[in-house]
Amino acid sequence: MDSFEKTENGAQTENTSSEAETKRKYKKPKKKRKKAIYHIDELKNTGAKRRVEDYARDLTRRLAIYAYAVISIVAFTFMLITMCSLGYEGFIKGNSIGVAETKEQIEAVRSSLNEEIKELSGSDSGQVEKLKFRLKVVSEDNYTPEEEIRQNMVKYSSAILMGCTVYVDGQPRVTLRTRRDANKVIERIKSQYEEEGMVCVSEILNKIELVSEETTYANASSVDGAVRVLNDVTDSSRGYTVEEGDTLWGIARRNETTVKTLIDLNPEFAENIVIRVGDVVQVPAPKPVVDVKTVIKDAVIEESVPTTMVEVEDASLYIGQTRITDYGSDGWRKITADITRINGIEDESQRVLKKEEMLSYPVPGKIHIGTTPVPKGVGSGALSWPLSGARISSHFGPRWGSVHTGVDLAIGMGTPVKACDEGKVIFAGWNSGGYGNLIKVDHGNGYQTWYAHLSKIYVKNGEAVSKGEVIGAVGSTGNSTGPHLHLEVRINGVPKNPLRYLP
Ligand SMILES: [Zn+2]
Repeated sequence: MDSFEKTENGAQTENTSSEAETKRKYKKPKKKRKKAIYHIDELKNTGAKRRVEDYARDLTRRLAIYAYAVISIVAFTFMLITMCSLGYEGFIKGNSIGVAETKEQIEAVRSSLNEEIKELSGSDSGQVEKLKFRLKVVSEDNYTPEEEIRQNMVKYSSAILMGCTVYVDGQPRVTLRTRRDANKVIERIKSQYEEEGMVCVSEILNKIELVSEETTYANASSVDGAVRVLNDVTDSSRGYTVEEGDTLWGIARRNETTVKTLIDLNPEFAENIVIRVGDVVQVPAPKPVVDVKTVIKDAVIEESVPTTMVEVEDASLYIGQTRITDYGSDGWRKITADITRINGIEDESQRVLKKEEMLSYPVPGKIHIGTTPVPKGVGSGALSWPLSGARISSHFGPRWGSVHTGVDLAIGMGTPVKACDEGKVIFAGWNSGGYGNLIKVDHGNGYQTWYAHLSKIYVKNGEAVSKGEVIGAVGSTGNSTGPHLHLEVRINGVPKNPLRYLP
């Protein structure tokens, strides 16, 4: 504390002394001027002399201003001369292609480009247009690099050359500068899935035609660019047949897509998300412009051999319930086979097995199948959607720095909400923690389903409900910004992603 005060005092002292110094400096010239006036007065103490003296002072000031202006202009001009020089800006059809020191430098670029075009097309037919020039002041190092001038010339010129267009199934896809380039592209596309050191036979499955066509130098593609165009994927979809145990979420995950994409691809889901075994669901299947089949002879592959499940009847489980008690383990084998790849992915149905060596055998797992009839008030474990036609407005999982313990199904106010499975109501009323009007149904098998933000509750605590029975209506009560059903699925008290349990 002491030392702090001392420092403050010290600072104050310094301030005072510097103020005094400033005052002294300010007074000095004042004294000097006074002295000078006394001096003139001593010589001639008349009013006329004073006017002359004023005029002289005014003249001096003006001269100083003129001198300053002249010096500035000279300095600026000098700066311009040393930093800038003259160059020529070239134009094709009004487009600037860059600036060079001489016209000849730009013309030289044009000549070399014309030579190249002539060589590629084998004729003088289409050359780069005549250039126009404009004199330009440029700062010293601001000339356009030659490569850039060349690129701009290519970009703006409509020089014609006889190129070669690749047609895929009758559709023109890409034009190259020469037929030789086009053949290179086809060869690269065809051989891209082959394995080095292996005997491979490749073919393009599409109908390919190479047609000589005029093109501008700018529009003709490079070999690399054309390979990219032909390997580019187009949005496409294929049918997936729903199997036992599939959920929309599971199908999305296996196809590396989202539930939202599946809903977009299958317009009927906008009305009602229901999938049944045997239904065909459209899933995204990006497809390259060109399909390539590659057969690799005598390929040696190490791969897993999937395990099998042994079913065990279990009276401690209800009919429809299953429990896996042993997942088993996959085996491992080494095979020699002729394999067929379509666009780099093996089509196993075309595999020709030549040799097989088991490295380890699969160990079967065990699945318990329930045999006891389901009593009243106990769920089957197979949930159904509580409402249809909803849009998923928020998914289960981390959200805004916390965890969203359910899924939000946005739909109109008052839409009937149905129980997802048979069970017993264990809560029906207001929840002040944000759920608003809330119904909790216990399904007696470890499952609970919670229905939140309801506008109406039609059931009472303790009441038994059947699967599909209307228990409430969609609302926006509690912590909610619009009408939606917040649905939770809890298994043994732990919130799970409902989309994994809904069909
Ligand atoms: Zn929610």
